[in-house]
Amino acid sequence: MNLLYKSTRNAGRTATASEAILKGLAEDGGLFVPEYIPKLDVTMDELKGMTYQETAYAVMKQFLTDFTEEELKDCIAKAYDSKFDTEVIAPLVKVGDVYHLELFHGATIAFKDMALSILPHLLTTAARKNHVKNDIVILTATSGDTGKAALAGFADVPGTKIIVFYPKGGVSRVQELQMVTQKGDNTAVVAIHGNFDNAQSGVKALFEDKELEKELDAQGYQFSSANSINIGRLVPQVVYYVYAYAKLLENEEITSEEQINVTVPTGNFGNILAAYYAKQMGVPIAKLICASNENKVLFDFFRTGVYDRNREFVLTSSPSMDILISSNLERLIYTIAGQDAEKNADLMRQLNEKGSYEITEDMKKKLDDFEGGFATEEETAEAIRTTYAHTGYVMDTHTAVASYVCAQYRKNSDDGKKCLIASTASPYKFARSVMSAIDKKYAEWDEMDLIDELKSISNTEIPRAIEEIRNAEIRHNRECDADRMKDTVKEILGV
Ligand SMILES: *Cc1c(COP(=O)(O)O)cnc(C)c1O
Repeated sequence: MNLLYKSTRNAGRTATASEAILKGLAEDGGLFVPEYIPKLDVTMDELKGMTYQETAYAVMKQFLTDFTEEELKDCIAKAYDSKFDTEVIAPLVKVGDVYHLELFHGATIAFKDMALSILPHLLTTAARKNHVKNDIVILTATSGDTGKAALAGFADVPGTKIIVFYPKGGVSRVQELQMVTQKGDNTAVVAIHGNFDNAQSGVKALFEDKELEKELDAQGYQFSSANSINIGRLVPQVVYYVYAYAKLLENEEITSEEQINVTVPTGNFGNILAAYYAKQMGVPIAKLICASNENKVLFDFFRTGVYDRNREFVLTSSPSMDILISSNLERLIYTIAGQDAEKNADLMRQLNEKGSYEITEDMKKKLDDFEGGFATEEETAEAIRTTYAHTGYVMDTHTAVASYVCAQYRKNSDDGKKCLIASTASPYKFARSVMSAIDKKYAEWDEMDLIDELKSISNTEIPRAIEEIRNAEIRHNRECDADRMKDTVKEILGV
């Protein structure tokens, strides 16, 4: 029996997993969700001895039921290989009294690699299964991390092309260098004269352009999305929560059936939703602690039941969490509304029209699994500084938000369960903020000198991703005005 997928805004239509991955977003604007969350069909004892790749298969086969065993294992083997700098793929590190699940050992040293290294393979397999003859053109607007991870994932994948738009002057120096030095004949990177919103609306307009769709089809191309709204990005993220629990058990840090809490630094709500799915699959997780930075729209939501994006957008030192519309929350809203697509669609309409909505008391009761918290900029820096002082471990700014929130929760509750922290980026990617948190004197230093200093104080290796951009050749220098994105895409594709 196939597990089918439905749109969060339409009760009627269903899609297979491969169709949902190909489409990315449902035609009614909703997100694809599985009709139910499947249970694990292997025991924790069996999972204990498994490699990351074996765990990935055990988890993903439950969701992606129309993929054959061979197809899925092939995708997994191509994704989780020597692109990662450790064979265990996602190491578990004990820091003080909490466990950090390091999700930053892939090609671009942020957790986006965990899903974006496999999505290209799932997508091309899905295209083959559904007899799609066209090449898939991935269009992405990025504020930094997603663009590079998608480029790295899709580079030289046959049957695909990828075009990334980033706001000129709107990303960090490391992030820009990572993108403009990207190799691969099928990759294109464009700096637009405008901000991230311009890039994002430009991409959306291209997706909705029916005329362009026809022109592209005639030339053997069709668009798809590598955004975190694609269910093909969510499912691979469930894997590492299952894996982490099994490793805690294997290392005898916990006993059989012992419940743990999980803290996730959250932006678009994808990563923490994956943890929620892992819990529903049968992993003994008690609380899901949602950690926000000063853009604390989710903290307020969990406290009051009101989601309100009408507030000032704050630029923080954890930019990948600077977000006021957490798109994946819609999947949770749909679930707590009792899978009522109409009710969810109505709330999303309110969000669109007035920027806010309020859930019912009934729905609120179903949020017991979640706990919200946030860290200010000063608290984030304090977490980096004190953790380094006490343990010698250096964490990035996003992870620091989670670390702070987790510590606050433990202090203010009588919940003594062991806590897993999703560690989402390498400190090398945010060296300036991280080093300045440790000592203010670093604020004046040159970026590359900071990287060498970070290596020396943390006793870790400089990741390949950083070494690469130090000497790499600039391969992309295309720029365009925000209203010229369509012509630019046509020029790149030669149509
Ligand atoms: C994307 C990102 C996040 C937020 O993850 P969501 O799934 O969007 O909630 C946190 N930290 C880092 C480093 C990221 O790149």
